[in-house]
Amino acid sequence: MDSITIAALPGDGIGIDVTHSALKVLEALGSKIDMRFVPQHHRVGAIAYQETGTALSDKTIRAAGEADAMLLGAMGLPHIRYDDGTEISPQLDLREHFGLFAGVRPIRPLTGVPSKLADPRAASIDFVMVREQTEGLFKERGATAMKSDEEARDAMVITRAGVQRVSDFALELGRQRKARGRPGRVTCVDKANVLGSMAYFRRVFEERAAAFPDVIVDAAYVDAMALNLVMKPWDYDVMVTENLLGDILSDLGAALVGGMGMAPSADIGESHALFQPAHGSAPDIAGRGIANPTAMLLSVVLMLDWLASHRSDQRLGDAARALERAIDLAYAEKRIMPFEFGGSSGTADITREVIAGL
Ligand code: ATP
Repeated sequence: MDSITIAALPGDGIGIDVTHSALKVLEALGSKIDMRFVPQHHRVGAIAYQETGTALSDKTIRAAGEADAMLLGAMGLPHIRYDDGTEISPQLDLREHFGLFAGVRPIRPLTGVPSKLADPRAASIDFVMVREQTEGLFKERGATAMKSDEEARDAMVITRAGVQRVSDFALELGRQRKARGRPGRVTCVDKANVLGSMAYFRRVFEERAAAFPDVIVDAAYVDAMALNLVMKPWDYDVMVTENLLGDILSDLGAALVGGMGMAPSADIGESHALFQPAHGSAPDIAGRGIANPTAMLLSVVLMLDWLASHRSDQRLGDAARALERAIDLAYAEKRIMPFEFGGSSGTADITREVIAGL
């Protein structure tokens, strides 16, 4: 029987609950496609830092890199911090180490999940935010330039190579989505009217776009995009943006489809990929069995799709569709309603219903 190794990095808080859910679903899926998903557990994150002095060991990085894919829960806790006051976030180290340059955040509402938007067109929202993840304003994190205690500076780093690869990724995604009936439109989101680094981002994006004449290309300032994502989010298809802007807009995107428990994400590099829900460790609800694992299960769908194309194995693509359908149906048939939305389905209930629908 073929096997696929998954580096399981549950991390902190509800990261542990939702990773457990994902591994149970993968076990059930594997038995249906005659394949074994073999999890390899690693301790990482804030509690690991508190107990061992290391949030992410070299040994873990090596082992994670050798696995077929990485599955991460959530990391960081507000009361455990580095000396400079920043939170423990080894997920950022993993992105840098493995060059996971494209943060892919699909935003698509599920039937049956309560929406914050009253406009019926909200049901047709279907876009993907692609966030550059290896540079931008996060590039020099940990190296803030302090002038005595009077001034702090963080630099925005935009390189040609960095913009090229993330632009190509987004443009290729636009092309693939067009083939599946979507508009095939990629919007560059920046602040090119104020910052030279952002004008450069847009210029390099436009240069790359010339090689994709079949893809519709436009650009928007991030402030206008914040407005439009509430006013008419159904207008967008693919967006590509800088690291911090993508960080902020992704949470806005999650709000459009119900909240943090519904938003999956994939961190994709040239040879490695990591999958995790867009939410954090949510210490307010950790350990109570009420975390919604849907964002994590949708991230598993992204992982299966990535593995399918990476390994050219159709069984994995079929598994992705089966899991996606099982999640969609569990909501559409109202078999689950998470605590987040005033329901009473806990983590285990949602996991069970999704497995039942496979
Ligand atoms: P961050 O690491 O981004 O600072 P956080 O742990 O503070 O994140 P968020 O992920 O931003 O929290 O989530 C905000 C709140 O949304 C949480 O405190 C929690 O109440 C709720 N929430 C987040 N994820 C889930 C989930 N999977 N299920 C249910 N509620 C969630």
